[in-house]
Order: sequence, then C-alpha cells, then structure tokens
Amino acid sequence: MSTRRPLKALGQNFLVDNNVIEKIVRSADISPEDNVLEIGPGRGALTVHLERLAGRLVLIEFDHALARQLKYRYEDNPRVTVIDADVLAVDLADLLEREGGAARWKVVANLPYNISTAVLFHLQEVRDKLSRMILMLQKEVGDRLVARPDCSDYGITTVLLGLWFDIRREFIVPPGCFQPCPKVDSAVLSFVSLPGPRVPVGDEAVFRKVVKGSFAMRRKTLINCLKAAELAPVDDLRGMLAECGIDGQRRGETLSMDEFAALSRLLSGMAQ
Ligand code: SAM
Repeated sequence: MSTRRPLKALGQNFLVDNNVIEKIVRSADISPEDNVLEIGPGRGALTVHLERLAGRLVLIEFDHALARQLKYRYEDNPRVTVIDADVLAVDLADLLEREGGAARWKVVANLPYNISTAVLFHLQEVRDKLSRMILMLQKEVGDRLVARPDCSDYGITTVLLGLWFDIRREFIVPPGCFQPCPKVDSAVLSFVSLPGPRVPVGDEAVFRKVVKGSFAMRRKTLINCLKAAELAPVDDLRGMLAECGIDGQRRGETLSMDEFAALSRLLSGMAQ
C-alpha cells in the first residue's frame, strides 16, 4: 500500500497497532453471513481482516490513490466492492440495497474525525439497513454519545442517535496507536440498531427540532429556547410543558429522552 504522506485534510491517521486492530475486528463479531461496510479503509489495516471474515465487503474511500490501490488488491475477489467516493455524497440506502438486497449490514470504520458527526447522521438515515456498527471516533465525540442528562457532554447527538441505537464505549485508543499520531485520544464505540425508536416521538422531524432547539442556547431556560425555535406559540408551549410535567425554567440539557419524546408527541399532534 501507498507510503505517500498521509493527508491531513482527509483525517488520515492510520492504525498501526495490531492489538487495537484485532480488538476492533473482534468487537464487530463478523461471520461469513455478514455484509460489512467499511468507511475510509485507507491503507487497509482493518480491511485485510474484514475481507477474510465477511461474506460481502463494501469499501468507500475518498482518497483516489488509495481507492485505486484497494481496487487493484481486490480485483479478483467478487465479494469485495470498492467505491471511490466521499461517503457523505453516497446514497447509502441505494448502495446497501444494490449490494446486499434486504440483508442488514455491519459498519466498521476508523472515521476521519473532521466529518465523523456528519457520517453518524448519514448512517442514522439508513439505520433500518444496519445491525451493528463499530466506529472509532475522537474520544470527546464518543463521550457525548454515551453521556447522561444534566452533564456538559449530553447534547443533540446523544439524544438523536440514542433514539435509534444502543451505544456503548468499548475501549479508549491512545494517540500512539496511529501514524501520524493525532493530538487527542480516540474511542471505539459499538452501536446496536434498535428495532424501532427507543420511545415513540410522533413526527421525527418535530422531535429533531425540539431537541436541537432545546440545546441551541445552553445558558437559557427551556421555555426561552423553545420559544426561539418557533415550535408553537409560547402559551401553547407552556401548556404542553405543564401537561408533560416539565418545568419550563429548567435547562434543555436536563431533559431525559422520555421527556423530549413526550413534548415532541404533543407538538406533533398540534402540527397535524
Ligand atoms: N481505516 C484506516 C485505518 O484504520 O488505518 C484509515 C482510517 S483514517 C482515520 C480515515 C480514512 O477515511 C482515510 O483513509 C481517508 O482517506 C478516508 N476518508 C476521509 N474522508 C472521507 C470521506 N469523505 N469519504 C470516505 N472516506 C474518507
């Protein structure tokens, strides 16, 4: 594989620690029945193991030179498809259906940090096609995903992704396991797709607006945040908060998933 200098703009911190590589692959628990999508295979540190274990493997790599090398390496293997593209521009629903029919997919990735949150939301859109994801993220991003209400890490990603996945931190990976070394720690997280939303939220678009609005101004009260988000006239908002038993003077970051969902259900009813 290429020994060209890693590209910072593409978040190229390549894994070089065999223990970590093995632990990630073990966490993914791959068998020959599995379809696996790897995002950003890079020089193929994880890919060699995934190719050995999975029934079907799709690789999406945005670095054209690396994608070309991966195509060359796997040209004789009909179980492997290499897509030379920006994952955020790929229609994943279409790709996964084309490559795997109705089967569900596992996702394995050491994600480029600069786009990791965008990739998480891109994957969330095809959650019904996914069974399990093992993702390496910057540790702080991982901390936010597993945070509890009323702490500074708890935020939009915690609630929106927690609605659809059981998320667990598997282990921490220090900078020395990569080449070049990033400046911060990383974390490997597992995401198990739930069969439906964790709690009924009514209209999901309304739920997203409630959550985003509630966290938009962390120093303001919930009622002021919701008012600014223009979700409903303020008197209606006050009535709905009372009906849900939520004090509007609280901060958005203290609300549980159930409380966001209750509010969203009432607002969804109003929107109909
Ligand atoms: N999987 C390899 C490893 O663990 O050593 C490489 C991981 S490196 C952190 C991230 C990889 O994602 C790089 O190969 C980079 O070129 C690729 N990448 C960056 N942006 C991408 C994008 N938008 N779509 C697909 N791949 C991307």
